[in-house]
Amino acid sequence: MAASRPPRAAPAGEPAAPPRRDDLVAGPSVRAKLAKLGIHSRLDLVLHLPLRYEDETKLTQLADAGTGEPVLVEADVVDCEVKYRPRRTLVVKLTDGKSDLWVRFLNFYPSQVKQMAPGRRLRLFGEVRPGFFGAEMVHPKVRVVEPGAPLASSLTPVYPTTAGMSQANLRGFIEHALDTLLLDDTLEHALLERLALGSFRDSVLFLHRPPPDVDAASLDGRTHPAWRRLKFDELLAQQLAMRIAYRERRGKSAPRMPDGHTLTNALVKSLPFALTRAQKKAWATIAHDLAQPHPMRRLLQGDVGSGKTLVAALAALQAIENGWQVALMAPTEILAEQHYLKLSHWLEPLGVKVSWLAGGLKARAKRAAVEAIGKGETQLAIGTHALFQDDVGFGRLGLAIVDEQHRFGVAQRLALTGKGTEPHQLMMSATPIPRTLSMSYYADLDVSVIDELPPGRTPVVTKLVDESRRDEVIRRIRASCAEGAQAYWVCPLIEESETLQLKTALETFETMKATFPDLAVGLVHGRMKPDEKARVMADFKARRVQLLVATTVIEVGVDVPNATLMVIEHAERMGLAQLHQLRGRVGRGTARSLAILLYHQPLSETARERLRIIYGNTDGFEIARQDLLLRGPGEYLGARQSGAPLLRFADLERDADLIELAREAADTMITERSHAVERHLDRWLGHRQFYLKA
Ligand code: ADP
Ligand code: MG
Repeated sequence: MAASRPPRAAPAGEPAAPPRRDDLVAGPSVRAKLAKLGIHSRLDLVLHLPLRYEDETKLTQLADAGTGEPVLVEADVVDCEVKYRPRRTLVVKLTDGKSDLWVRFLNFYPSQVKQMAPGRRLRLFGEVRPGFFGAEMVHPKVRVVEPGAPLASSLTPVYPTTAGMSQANLRGFIEHALDTLLLDDTLEHALLERLALGSFRDSVLFLHRPPPDVDAASLDGRTHPAWRRLKFDELLAQQLAMRIAYRERRGKSAPRMPDGHTLTNALVKSLPFALTRAQKKAWATIAHDLAQPHPMRRLLQGDVGSGKTLVAALAALQAIENGWQVALMAPTEILAEQHYLKLSHWLEPLGVKVSWLAGGLKARAKRAAVEAIGKGETQLAIGTHALFQDDVGFGRLGLAIVDEQHRFGVAQRLALTGKGTEPHQLMMSATPIPRTLSMSYYADLDVSVIDELPPGRTPVVTKLVDESRRDEVIRRIRASCAEGAQAYWVCPLIEESETLQLKTALETFETMKATFPDLAVGLVHGRMKPDEKARVMADFKARRVQLLVATTVIEVGVDVPNATLMVIEHAERMGLAQLHQLRGRVGRGTARSLAILLYHQPLSETARERLRIIYGNTDGFEIARQDLLLRGPGEYLGARQSGAPLLRFADLERDADLIELAREAADTMITERSHAVERHLDRWLGHRQFYLKA
């Protein structure tokens, strides 16, 4: 009699582990291999869809087989021999009565030699090519059959697999799952009808076992209705999860900060320009959000130079008017400082206490600054993300503004310091997120777009120049500076080594000084002390420096309207977003601006494509869209610290219409509290149910 063991209790204080749906019928080594394919359950097997198919539903006569396409042939073994020269090879000669076929295997098991004994009838799947002796096949798929054995009735799926897991075995597991799982629908009939989508069961069975007469292109291109059903399901699960996270946030509380119109109006009045229509609209939306009793999570998107900082300043003032503190975080020291300069210039005349948590602050000064924040004396604190990561405790944090959306996590941590309520969050991004992406992976956020630049800007002209024509570029700089303009010379990005990058910057600086003895040349790079950087930037702004040699630290936020020429070295090494950001540093005034992208041959295919895109486009959204096509969403998402599930089947660009449909369906299902919500999420996300952190 087996001793029964008591069930293991969950350790005190910890929630019991979520139920695992691991219902695989397999031993540990097979499980390990399946796990490598992301398969942990029978449902995962069902959702492990074929890469392509092989047609073994009809036989081709040997005489007709040399089409260049893989075909299924049937023939009898005449001879089977292992040859040792020029290398060990199994050579099998077959005939179908009319024509002969030679088959060669370079890697084979002894059992295969036995399998292919003379007299055996074989079915072989592969490509028939003209060979040394006649028609031949190399490494075909082989099966011994009885004459007249039935053919497959559907196309044979070929699955993505991993070492040690053969197609045949994997197919067996998947077939078993298809036969044993109840593949019922998670979606309501009416919805499927309205969207003209088939049932879940029919769709997966179709994709695993397509009939021979299927339109192959619709399977390859994943446009077949069965594919669309699965993509829709996947997108719907994503939408449901994101929209639920969105709604849950609305259940939390945050300080209500209605627009008091005192400080905000005062700022608008003090400006030498009027807000653009797009700025006004974004500002009105944010003003409304801040007046709500639940936390705002708004992403403010706007192309380089569209004037996001001003909108952020207005949001900050609204919080401050209501007696709350504001944190503004920027990704780099230089950008934080630019913000500090600009915002203190705008806000200090209104009596607002702005402080800058500079990296270079002495310990004493830093302690004092942190203390002023803690006591609530500082109304607006500006610094890098990193600085806020050290324990800066706010007395009354009402709003966190994050410039460049990349690091959601930091604001999250700050949010935890709020007691009972969460601060509102405004995220700003000059790397526009393509619409399809913001509708899918960012569906838990609200998004505002500033889709207009302030008036009087002239588009930047971009030139691609081979670095062998450097002399012309030098002449160009000399001519421009002689006319009173200023220029940037951006040093190459050297990702592998910061030291090397610094060295290159110093060398470039020396070269430029020697090349332009008549010009005042400045240098700014990431390793400089903050006050040194500030001095150089101030000199450049005041036109005491005409040519500024810079590393990519000037990528974001730097604002000098008189600088109208930019040379970017080794532009082929840079990403599209980076090039667009850099280029955005010129064209800030009314004069015509020029960006010269110097490139070195040979160019990789992607580099060539990137340069083509940046050359042909000035609109950041279009660039981002093409970037997404070029690289996929990974790059954008690397930034998101959430468990947002990646899409396996749907393609953001090609399936944009499905994203819209899924969004609508998700909202309806949630509003109607449909039971399908839970069932659908369980099917698609299961125990991987995630929690969005942004
Ligand atoms: P970004 O959106 O790239 O952060 P900024 O906020 O730095 O852009 O704004 C770019 C420049 O345009 C700044 O010098 C800013 O003062 C100026 N600016 C902002 N709004 C307007 C406007 N409505 N009219 C004219 N200039 C503006
Ligand atoms: Mg900015």
